[in-house]
Amino acid sequence: MNCTFCDIVEKKRSAKILYEDDVVLAFEDINPQAPVHVLVIPKKHISTSLDIQDEDKSLIGYLFQIANKIAKGKGIAESGFRLVINCNREAGQTIFHIHLHLLGGRVMHWPPG
Ligand code: AMP
Ligand code: ZN
Repeated sequence: MNCTFCDIVEKKRSAKILYEDDVVLAFEDINPQAPVHVLVIPKKHISTSLDIQDEDKSLIGYLFQIANKIAKGKGIAESGFRLVINCNREAGQTIFHIHLHLLGGRVMHWPPG
């Protein structure tokens, strides 16, 4: 299987890693859309949010906890930040390994584009 984010997990592809443990990896987005744009991923390959299984429930909750920790570390927790998961084509998903976008450091607009 050809997966860019599995390659980053396996260190076959470089990334600016901000956080890593046994189950989660967080790294800078290569094409940032805000002053802070971090991707938080499970090391386990899950293609889309539609593929989350019962056994993944705590892992997905944990992704949000790590995103919170990074937001605090980046100093944007109080000012505000956005967490986004794109699912499938019309949402703009381009990498089919589930990832939580952590965006912040500027005013976010609503509705999103
Ligand atoms: P999505 O459109 O939700 O699938 O988001 C994919 C994100 O991955 C985009 O924001 C890309 O800029 C980012 N991206 C793609 N390749 C890499 C990479 N090698 N390292 C870091 N971020 C990447
Ligand atoms: Zn993958």
